[in-house]
Amino acid sequence: MLKRPFNFSAGPATMPEPVLRQAAAEMLDWHGCGMGVMEMSHRGKEFMAIATEAHNDIRDVLEVPGEFHVLFMQGGGLGENAIVPMNLCGPREGVSSPAEVITDFVVTGSWSQKSAKEARRYSDARVVASNEPGHHHDIPDPSQWQLSGNARYVHICSNETIHGVEFSELPDLAALGSRAPLVVDCSSHIASRPLDWSRIGLAFAGAQKNLGPAGLTLVFVRDDLLDQAMAICPSAFQYKQVAANQSMYNTPPTFGMYMAGLVFKWLKEQGGIPAMEAMNRAKARLLYDCIDQSSLYENRVAVACRSRMNVPFFLRDERLNDAFLSGAQARGLLQLKGHKSVGGMRASLYNAMPLEGVQALVDYMRDFETTQA
Ligand SMILES: *Cc1c(COP(=O)(O)O)cnc(C)c1O
Repeated sequence: MLKRPFNFSAGPATMPEPVLRQAAAEMLDWHGCGMGVMEMSHRGKEFMAIATEAHNDIRDVLEVPGEFHVLFMQGGGLGENAIVPMNLCGPREGVSSPAEVITDFVVTGSWSQKSAKEARRYSDARVVASNEPGHHHDIPDPSQWQLSGNARYVHICSNETIHGVEFSELPDLAALGSRAPLVVDCSSHIASRPLDWSRIGLAFAGAQKNLGPAGLTLVFVRDDLLDQAMAICPSAFQYKQVAANQSMYNTPPTFGMYMAGLVFKWLKEQGGIPAMEAMNRAKARLLYDCIDQSSLYENRVAVACRSRMNVPFFLRDERLNDAFLSGAQARGLLQLKGHKSVGGMRASLYNAMPLEGVQALVDYMRDFETTQA
């Protein structure tokens, strides 16, 4: 069997190989029905079975409580940056214009910054804490957040894919004196560790980092937040509509749902989230230890906030960048170039990246450093 290279892309990203093989085998004929999945009516019994299983499996895997709806949507993470405020910033007694609706944002990197900017089109979006002065290398202590008394929601990005900063624990807004629901963009570490649902009002994730192909977005929304949409919110993006129609208000991203469904089954076979978390810890430790022990490589994120999923690192001599990348490519270590806004390198260690892949990367990094000495 062909041995595939290790792909460290930040997203769209590496997929579990058994999932790709199964999808390939079923491409022309799903379970003997004579059709491939992308050729089926989304309302036919075959696809309904696929959708129901995907729905049940993700609830199981993530231990989603009953009061949350799981929605399979389109529009990606950036789409949700608008879809969330359009769903949560509707009129309330005493509040008539969007300018009077306050939303709170904790800025910890590029993604949360984009979320705040987009929400400003629909609300008075306030940055209540920011790590920008420290170049997005840490997470402002929640006790220092300047939370608004009457915000509709508080938004965080629990794993900043570009800057490699991750919340190791979700903030407890109630303990901070806020009654606002917490909105979490968990696109790039969903299913890599448990989610504390007791602290969450709404969570969303584009699928293309840890769950499946681009084009599918998962939204988890608590029941009491379904009924606060602005009038301008498109019907196809209204959580209430989508929930009432089991994500079939309009045609959902059927092939993406099928692929994500296969990933959910793969996750279960691997031992679920506890097994994933243990593996992700081990992978991250291996790479950060290599970086910290070297005199060539450097990671600038505060140790307590280092992401297990996305590890940005730099070569202290940047003139070696091209040689590092072409040597990596030659060893079958793909897509290690850092995001253009940060530079350097970035290795994404999503669930589908095996320990063996990180070991191969670390071996290469040590060899490369030795040849430079
Ligand atoms: C990738 C990513 C997004 C953007 O997703 P799109 O599907 O490109 O809109 C948003 N938030 C985070 C944290 C991401 O990693």
